[in-house]
Amino acid sequence: MDKLLEVSGLNKSYEDFSLKEVSFSLPEGCIAGFIGKNGAGKTTTIKTILGLAEKDGGSVRIFGMDMETEEKQIKNRIGVVFDEGCFYEELTLEEMKCVIAPAYSSWCEEDFKGYLERFSLNPKQKIETLSKGMRLKYALALALSHKAELLVMDEPTSGLDPLIRNQLLDILKEFMEQGGRGVFFSTHITSDLDKIADMLILIDRGRIVFQAEKDDLLESYRIVKGDKGKLDEDTRKLFLSLEENAYGFVGITGQLDEVKERMPDIVIERPAVEDIMLAHVKKARRG
Ligand code: ATP
Repeated sequence: MDKLLEVSGLNKSYEDFSLKEVSFSLPEGCIAGFIGKNGAGKTTTIKTILGLAEKDGGSVRIFGMDMETEEKQIKNRIGVVFDEGCFYEELTLEEMKCVIAPAYSSWCEEDFKGYLERFSLNPKQKIETLSKGMRLKYALALALSHKAELLVMDEPTSGLDPLIRNQLLDILKEFMEQGGRGVFFSTHITSDLDKIADMLILIDRGRIVFQAEKDDLLESYRIVKGDKGKLDEDTRKLFLSLEENAYGFVGITGQLDEVKERMPDIVIERPAVEDIMLAHVKKARRG
C-alpha cells in the first residue's frame, strides 16, 4: 500500500513546548485519528506538516513528494479544515469562495454548489453570521471541491452536536469510497474514532506514543476488574494502567492470557479507544 503522508523525525520548538522526533505515516485508503489530550501537540504537528509553522528539523512527504520543495503541487491535492476556519469574516460564502478557488487547478464549481445545497448553506450569507456547525460545513465544502486526495483536519468535530458530527462522519466515508484517498484528523472526541477511524496515532507531550490499527488495538487490550488482594509485584506489571481503591482494582492489560492464568475470578470488559488512550498516556508519563 502506498503512503499518502510520511512524517519523519519532525521537531518544532516553542518556548514552553516542543515536538520531539515526531514520526508516523498514513497509507492510502486509511482514515487516521490523531489523538491526544489538550496541549499534546496535535495542532502544532498539523501546522508544521502543512508548513504553516516552520519546522526545526525532520521531513514531511505527501504523495511521495517533499513538502519543502513541492509544496504548491502538494497543496493543490489536499483539503484542509481547521477548527476555527481561516476566513475573512465580512465576506459572503460566495465571495470567500472566489478568493480561495483560483488557488486550485482542479476547482470544481459544480461540486461546490452541490455541497452548499446539501449542507443548506446560502452563498449570500456572511461568514461572520455562520454558526459553528455551518462553519465546519462551509470549510468542508471548500476542502472537498477541488478533487482533494488527502483531507487534513484539525479538531473538526469539537463543539459540534452529535447530529452534525455524524453527518461529517458520513461525508468522510463517502469521500473514502473513491480509492487512493486518505483522511488525517485530530480529535479528542474519541467516540467519533470508534465509529470511523482505521488507524490511531497517539501523541503526548510532543512525542508519538503509538501508531496502530484501531481494530488491532481494540483486540489487544482488555479492562480487568478484580479483588485487590490478587495484586502483587508481578501481577501489577501485567497492566498498562491500574487504579486501586479500598475494595478492588480496575486495570488495562495487553496480556490477558497471563492475567487470566495468574488471577482467577476477575471481570473482563472490552475497552473503548478512550480507555486505551488514557492508559497509554498514564504509562508514558510514569516513564
Ligand atoms: P488542543 O487539543 O487543546 O487543541 P493540541 O494537542 O492541538 O491541543 P497544540 O495547540 O499543538 O496542542 O499546543 C501544544 C503546546 O504548544 C501548547 O502548550 C501551546 O501553548 C504551545 N503552542 C502552540 N502554538 C504556540 C505558539 N505559536 N507559540 C508558543 N507556544 C505555542
